[in-house]
Amino acid sequence: MINVTKTFLPPFEEYAAILKRAWDKAWITNNGELVQELEQKLKAYLEVPNLLFTGNGTIVLQMALKALNITGEVITTPFSYVATTNAILWEGCQPVFVDINPDTLCIDATKIEAAIIPHTQAILATHVYGIPCDVDAIDAIAKKHNLKVIYDAAHAFGVQYKGKSLLSYGDISTCSFHATKLFHTVEGGCIIANDDAIARQLMLYRQFGHVYDEYFTMGINGKNSEMHAAMGLAVFPYIEAIIEERRHICASYSNALGSKFQLPVCPEDTRFNYAYYPVLFPSESALLKAINELKSHQISGRRYFYPSLNQLPYLQQTAPCPVSEAISRRVFCLPLYPGLKADEINQIIQIVLKYSS
Ligand SMILES: *Cc1c(COP(=O)(O)O)cnc(C)c1O
Repeated sequence: MINVTKTFLPPFEEYAAILKRAWDKAWITNNGELVQELEQKLKAYLEVPNLLFTGNGTIVLQMALKALNITGEVITTPFSYVATTNAILWEGCQPVFVDINPDTLCIDATKIEAAIIPHTQAILATHVYGIPCDVDAIDAIAKKHNLKVIYDAAHAFGVQYKGKSLLSYGDISTCSFHATKLFHTVEGGCIIANDDAIARQLMLYRQFGHVYDEYFTMGINGKNSEMHAAMGLAVFPYIEAIIEERRHICASYSNALGSKFQLPVCPEDTRFNYAYYPVLFPSESALLKAINELKSHQISGRRYFYPSLNQLPYLQQTAPCPVSEAISRRVFCLPLYPGLKADEINQIIQIVLKYSS
């Protein structure tokens, strides 16, 4: 079976050797040595001023909204994983969907201003597939209208844009280290704030709002464990090799498919991470036929991202997003992971090519 992704597992002995450090100290959670070491390494690698390792990439979206005091309308993208919208709803806020740019598939910055009303407090946008949002335009709009900016950077680990880490943009950026993501800690995530006071607030939120006997604020359990940090430390030395191998596979796909299929466009001046390989089929029916044929050869991709989030059945209020709705019906992510073999890639290409028109 060829899946859309296959979790990278480091050599077991390397994981075990790191895990043993926690074992020997009998310290397995609560901001232990491995969590702190992982945070230091990630801070340096991602070139960000601060970073908190957390339980997952969803709780950080909720913590971000809370830390920025967002209680009202949040302008957001309909083209993302469902966690982006759920976090807004879970925090009691109102998502306001703004359609996406048909090339980058990120929120269309030229359509944001028309969606701003007096209750709008924030923009929560996703660098979908690791493609940078129009961060400069979003920043300018946010300044003009006094809005906070949160980036769901769950796909953007290691991406650089205009010479800076993509995770350093916005008031807060969040990432996911789930096993299906480019860099993983089994389950996990992180949050990065550009303001020191917000970063401290997030640190308190992560540990129930208190430090020993001093209670500062309402908090939640956003922590992660030494076991998860050990996985991160064991995967970390391989990250450049992982990205390089993915780049290679993507190049093979693009050589064969680039002239036959519409592919999302990454803006110039991006150092990309090759986290996903999305292909836009000419129609949903072509996509469904391709999925069936791939399945019959034990190959599965994912309909990332479908449905368009403005069409979630549990929304009280929503708005049409024709670009996102149309794209989500015909987008498909091809299998992409280190270890995917050349003959497997060729087999996938041969099947997919049949459905280019
Ligand atoms: C995976 C993902 C999340 C959620 O991350 P978890 O670690 O699984 O909670 C949030 N947003 C996007 C865009 C994602 O792809």
